[in-house]
Amino acid sequence: MDVTGFSIIAGSIATDRTSPFRSIDPATGRNGTVEFHAAGLAEVDLACRAAADDFDAFASHPPQRRADFLERCAAGIAQLGDALVAMVSSETGLAAPRVAGERDRTVNQFRFFAGLVREGSWVEAVIDRGDPARTPLPKPDLRRMLRPLGPVAVFGASNFPLAYSAGGGDTASALAAGCPVVVKGHPSHSGTGEMVAAAITRAARESSMPAGAFSYLHAGGTRELDIGRAVITHPSIKAGGFTGSLGGGMALARLAADRPDPIPVFAEMGSANPVFILPGAAENMGSDIAQRLHASVTNSAGQMCTCPGLIFVIRSAAADALINRLGELMGQTESMVMLSPRIRGGFIDRVATVESMPGVRVAAGGPHERPKTIGEQLTGGSYARPTLLVTDFAAFKAHHTLREECFGPSTLAIVCDSFEQLAEAAGLVDGSLTGTIWADPNIDQDAAVKIHRSLEQRAGRMIFNGVPTGVEVAPAMVHGGPYPATNQPHTSAVGSLALRRWCRPVCYQNCPPWMLAPELSDANPRGIWRWVDGSLGRS
Ligand code: NAP
Repeated sequence: MDVTGFSIIAGSIATDRTSPFRSIDPATGRNGTVEFHAAGLAEVDLACRAAADDFDAFASHPPQRRADFLERCAAGIAQLGDALVAMVSSETGLAAPRVAGERDRTVNQFRFFAGLVREGSWVEAVIDRGDPARTPLPKPDLRRMLRPLGPVAVFGASNFPLAYSAGGGDTASALAAGCPVVVKGHPSHSGTGEMVAAAITRAARESSMPAGAFSYLHAGGTRELDIGRAVITHPSIKAGGFTGSLGGGMALARLAADRPDPIPVFAEMGSANPVFILPGAAENMGSDIAQRLHASVTNSAGQMCTCPGLIFVIRSAAADALINRLGELMGQTESMVMLSPRIRGGFIDRVATVESMPGVRVAAGGPHERPKTIGEQLTGGSYARPTLLVTDFAAFKAHHTLREECFGPSTLAIVCDSFEQLAEAAGLVDGSLTGTIWADPNIDQDAAVKIHRSLEQRAGRMIFNGVPTGVEVAPAMVHGGPYPATNQPHTSAVGSLALRRWCRPVCYQNCPPWMLAPELSDANPRGIWRWVDGSLGRS
C-alpha cells in the first residue's frame, strides 16, 4: 500500500504542500524515503467541519451498521499485513514480533467495540415508567440513555503506534459511540498513521459511512504544536482523547478548558507503576521476581506506560540478593533502541537527574551523560543502556522527583528499613495506572492487605504476584488512575468504560414512543438495565 505523505480529510487526499518532513529510523538515525506534509490550518478546519456536518448522519446509523463498519476497520488493518509491521518497525525501532502483537490487539479492539455496539446495552438505557395517578403530583415517564458527544479529536502516543494512535482505542471507542474522529497524527510514525488511516477510510467508504466520520491530519516538522492546538480548540470538536506525556496531556486539557465552550479531554499520561515486594516473597520467590521484573522493565526498551518504575523492598539478605540479581540481568542486557532521538534524549536527561540526587546510586547501566548538542542526539541510532538505580526511603521521601516516571529501560529500587517505612512509601507514591504487590500468601497476608488498601487509592489496576506490563482488552479492564496517570480518574482508556467517555446521558420526559430510540421502547420488558459481569443485563 502506497503512503502519499498527505493528510486524509473526509475521505479525500489533501494537497496542502507545506514544507516536508520525514520519519527517522531510530535504529540507524537515517531518514525515511517518504516526504510528509503537515496539515495546514485550512485543512484542520475542513476536517473538523466535515466531522460536525456528518455527525448526525453517522450517529443515527443503526448500531448494526456501525458495528459492521468497525469490523471492516479491523479487517482492513489486519490486511495491511507485513507491510504495516515493516513500516512500524522502521519508524519506531520496535521489534517485529512486538509490532505484530500490537497490531492484533488493535484489530481486536475494533472487534471488541463492534461486539459492544451490536449487543447494545452499553447505552445504559433506564426506563422509569410514569404514574399519572400518583398523588399529590403525577409521576412523569422518564427514560435515560447515553448519547454521543460529537466529533472527537484523537492524539496518540509514540510508544503505541497502533494500539494508541490513528486506529487505536480512542478512535475505535469514539467511532463505536457514534462520534466522528479527527486524528492529529504523531510525527514520529507518520507512515504508520497514514496506512492505518487509509484502511479506516476505505472501511468507511465500503460501509457507506458519511465521509466526515474520519479524518487524519499529518503533523510534524516545525508546525506540529499549532496543528494540535488548532484541532483541540476548533469549535466543531466536542471532546479530546490523548495518550502521551504529562506535559502534552495537561497542555491540551488546559486549552480545552479555556475554550469559550469548554470540552472534556481524556488524557492518559505518565505513570511510575510502583511494585511492593513483601519479605516472604523476597525470601521465597526472589529470583523469579528479579527475572520477571527485568523482562517487564526492558520490554520494548521500557517504553511502556505500565513499565514498573519503582520497586520497594524491606532491607534483608533476600532483598539484597533480589536487587543484585536484577542488577546483573540489567547489566547483561545490551543497549536498546528507543523510539526516537527526542525520547532517547528525554530518557538520558531524566536518568541523569535521578542519578544526581543525593542518596541515589547506579547499580547497573549508567552513568549517563546528557547529550551535549541536539546534533549529537540526531546522529546515529537512538540507543540507551538499561539502568538500575537504588536509593533508600529517606531520599525517596525527601525528593519528589524520584516518584516521577522515567520513560525508558530503567527502574529505581527503594530499600526501606522497616514495614512502617514501606507502608509510608505506599502512601507517598503518585497516582498511577497500576500498583503491584508481591506477597507469599502464607507469610505476608496482613502486610499485603495493608499495602493494598493504601495503594488502591492511587492506582487504576492492582496486580498480585505479577508484572504490570500487558494490558488485556476486556470489559473489566481499567487503564486509568488518579493524576498524574490521567486527568480523569473516573474512567478508563481500555475496556468497555472507554466508550462511555464519548457520551453524555440524556433524559427523555413524557416523550412519545415515536420520538424514542429503540433502546428506550416498551419492548424492553422491565425497563431497568444493570451492570452484570462487565455488561448490562435486564433485571
Ligand atoms: P507526547 O510527546 O506527549 O506526544 C503525544 C501527542 O501529543 C503528539 O501528537 C504530540 O504532538 C501532541 N502534543 C504533545 N504536547 C503538545 C502540546 N503542548 N500541544 C499540542 N500537542 C501536543 O507523548 P509521547 O512522547 O509520544 O509518548 C510517550 C509518553 O506517553 C510516555 O510518558 C508514556 O508513559 C505515555 N503513555 C501513556 C499511556 C497511557 O495509557 N497512560 C499509553 C502510552 C504512552 P507533537 O509530537 O507533534 O508535538
